[in-house]
Amino acid sequence: MLKFKNKKSFRQIYLIMILVVSCLLILSIYSDSQDKEADNSTTQNNNAPTTTNENGQPKYSLSKASSPWVIVNKKRPLPQNYVPELVNPNVPRTGSPTSENMMLSPVASSKLEELFKQASKDGINIRFASGYRSASTQAGLYNSYVTNNGQTNADKFSARPGHSEHQTGLAADIVSQTNYCYLEQCWAETKESQWLADNAHKFGFAVRYLQDKQNITGYDYEPWHLRYFGVQLATELYKSKLTAEEYFNLPPAPNYN
Ligand SMILES: [Zn+2]
Repeated sequence: MLKFKNKKSFRQIYLIMILVVSCLLILSIYSDSQDKEADNSTTQNNNAPTTTNENGQPKYSLSKASSPWVIVNKKRPLPQNYVPELVNPNVPRTGSPTSENMMLSPVASSKLEELFKQASKDGINIRFASGYRSASTQAGLYNSYVTNNGQTNADKFSARPGHSEHQTGLAADIVSQTNYCYLEQCWAETKESQWLADNAHKFGFAVRYLQDKQNITGYDYEPWHLRYFGVQLATELYKSKLTAEEYFNLPPAPNYN
């Protein structure tokens, strides 16, 4: 056991020890907070939006008709009798609110309302021209296009029944209030179309049939056709300039099987 000459030197050593312990304590708290900061930055990176789950699979089904990410094309039909839940978006529209094609699935409807509000704030005057289409309505449309244009041509711009994205209730065709270039490719030159191309993803919509991607999507360029995927995927598609088929490495669908 240590022996101290007097009480004074004991007190000095005692004080030095307290000082050293305090210094160590302060140092350890400081390095702890540094670690936490580093942790936070890694967590933030790990939390960056990703479209895959922990197994590397898409977060939502690409096949289930009611999935927000369902991919419908000439090789991926919907069940003919599939009918989504439908509501009326409260936006300027071309048709009667009671008509079938003025309806959308609830999530697409509320996001379309948000999109229209922002468009209006930005001085963009657009109207909702077509939403849900049942397989039987699509059959009527497609058959009339075949009669008037021939099947080869009809297949370039109209889906066969069970193959239309409009049957999901997640697709919306948008036109100018003036009806200029109504559902025609020349609409791409309008400020309304350009606003949609630049902003639709912020509300979860993607321009689904991109220019020069007919060999993948199966359809000519349709600057008016928006598809609701949710903000995350729509933003990924917008940034990558990829079609949904390319993004998910799905086989191209230029033709029917
Ligand atoms: Zn469409």
